[in-house]
Amino acid sequence: MTATTATACEYAPCSQVIERAATGRPPRYCGPNCRQAAHRERVRLAEEAAARAARLASARATTRAAFPRAEGYVSSVGDLAAEAFRVMADDQSGRPVMWAAFRELHRCVDAFERVALEYQDAADEAAALAGHDRLPVT
Ligand SMILES: [Zn+2]
Repeated sequence: MTATTATACEYAPCSQVIERAATGRPPRYCGPNCRQAAHRERVRLAEEAAARAARLASARATTRAAFPRAEGYVSSVGDLAAEAFRVMADDQSGRPVMWAAFRELHRCVDAFERVALEYQDAADEAAALAGHDRLPVT
């Protein structure tokens, strides 16, 4: 009773065929080298998955945080535009005062744009890491 069947070593890059006895636990690998290599591969995959999950969590946190900041800029840009308009219409304010008002408005618009770009980058990264199109922010 020495019937054997042949199976392939479970370590994918190995092409060894394992002869195994019909009874007893079937060996999964052709030897200790492949068992070790398969173990190292599982550890590496688990570490990669953990790193990807951490990057995904970080990207999602960035998108969530960008929303209230962007909303703040919507309001500030409106206030500064209204101030620039007031200065423009005020006959007592000279051009330097108006330029200063517009410099403030530009600074605020630039900061708003930086937050918007940060949001877009983080949303793209989150979608790529999660392997799907962008999800709505929750
Ligand atoms: Zn093997």
